[in-house]
Amino acid sequence: MAPSGVKCKFPAWIGVACFLLVLSCGQQGDRNPDKTKTPALATPPVDVPRFQADSAFAFVKQQVEFGPRVPNTRAHVNCAEWLAGKLAGYADTLIVQSFRVRAFDGKVLDSRNIIASFHPDLGNRILLCAHWDTRPFADQDQERRNEPIDGANDGASGVGVLLEVARILAATDPALGVDIVLFDAEDYGQPDDSGFPPMDDSYCLGSQYWAKNPHQRNYIARYGILLDMVGAPQAKFTQEGTSMQYAPSVVEQVWKTAAATGFGDYFIPERTKGIIDDHYYINRLAGIKCIDIIHYDFSSPSNFWTHWHTHEDRLDKIDRNSLRAVGQTLLEVLFREIQAS
Ligand SMILES: [Zn+2]
Repeated sequence: MAPSGVKCKFPAWIGVACFLLVLSCGQQGDRNPDKTKTPALATPPVDVPRFQADSAFAFVKQQVEFGPRVPNTRAHVNCAEWLAGKLAGYADTLIVQSFRVRAFDGKVLDSRNIIASFHPDLGNRILLCAHWDTRPFADQDQERRNEPIDGANDGASGVGVLLEVARILAATDPALGVDIVLFDAEDYGQPDDSGFPPMDDSYCLGSQYWAKNPHQRNYIARYGILLDMVGAPQAKFTQEGTSMQYAPSVVEQVWKTAAATGFGDYFIPERTKGIIDDHYYINRLAGIKCIDIIHYDFSSPSNFWTHWHTHEDRLDKIDRNSLRAVGQTLLEVLFREIQAS
């Protein structure tokens, strides 16, 4: 069923669970009149909060309004400070990891990974991540190819969803160990026609740095979920090959949860080719099982979202329903962890 503007507050499984609880109480009651001792009541279903797509959209808009978030620019610094301030208000701890990396064109990029932790005392952690920088060129466009893009979808959308998840975690305070990592310098990768010598691993510089220099010594998470380009209308998220290679059980868990939550039109259970995104380095270098929720376009030549790395990647391409599909699915995955633990 396609999600509409209004989502049922309770997923269907809660209704089923309540029905089973009632049955269970009745059976217990026949044998034991003291219903307060009914063991089934000790584990009530968790009420999963509603993801607020308007709030996530406002977080996307705010980032776009800073201007392109290209390293070594004023807009980049201003947005980093705003992101850090927001997350510091929501999380238990905030770490800004400042570092310098050399890009394919020889430029040294002043970069920052922004890391917000909830219940840092708890083990069994879950990693949520997205990149917050934007591409300095529009190399997939026909015009103004050397100018930076707005990156409303490629960058801001994933961060907007994670900021809203952070706001909800702060408001509800579930007993979950969650780390939200916003990677820098993901999208400064080498264009095909750059004229510079070929450079391996030129994308994802922030996640490569973090995977080699985690914010905590021996940091480990049970699994990770990366968001990239999650805000376009009728977005399609396929089971991307790198995620399937390294973390098929996490893919299955997330796609099943999305379907059970009513977002099966967005999360397509079809395997597609593997890509290199931040999750590749999290798997390869940090040894954390991590998947990528990323827009796949069956009709575009790149198989990425049709406006990928063009000037059409603007705020008017962001759809609240897609933000909701991803954000609500993430909340369902997280809050079902409480039940499972
Ligand atoms: Zn990109």
